[in-house]
Amino acid sequence: MLSNSDCIFCKIVAGTIPSTKLFEDDSAIAILDINPITFGHSLYIAKEHYATLLDVPEGKLGGIVKNLQKVVSALLKATGCEGFNIIQNNTRCAGQLVPHLHFHIVPRRPNDPIRFNWQIGTYQKEESQKLAEDIKKALGK
Ligand code: AMP
Ligand code: ZN
Repeated sequence: MLSNSDCIFCKIVAGTIPSTKLFEDDSAIAILDINPITFGHSLYIAKEHYATLLDVPEGKLGGIVKNLQKVVSALLKATGCEGFNIIQNNTRCAGQLVPHLHFHIVPRRPNDPIRFNWQIGTYQKEESQKLAEDIKKALGK
């Protein structure tokens, strides 16, 4: 099992620092976030230490998230929420503070105060086509 002795989530997985655990299987745990942005905000955390989504070896991600839906459903039922966001930050520039793969589950309520500051952009003429070509090339297609 990949672990990092300096990592707070590895310590939570190992049980050496406390958490409010909601769920556990062989590859993930779910806990309440210590600083919830909404009531019920929880974290679904890989048991193995992978800094970001891209550090997970090919073929392993499915096993890590296999019970994510189940945890989300239970969280919605318990909180009486009708919606949720899954937020997954990767690297510091994207807001990741704990470099150990985790998914935020954020229960949402009608008219709650959470707003994502998405600046709506547009593409210049032919820019989107060039971008799509570059991505497809990167995908090896
Ligand atoms: P991120 O910015 O995506 O890396 O999110 C890290 C999250 O971990 C934040 O929402 C923190 O509130 C949460 N967090 C940090 N330490 C703990 C802890 N000991 N127990 C529960 N949640 C924590
Ligand atoms: Zn870790």
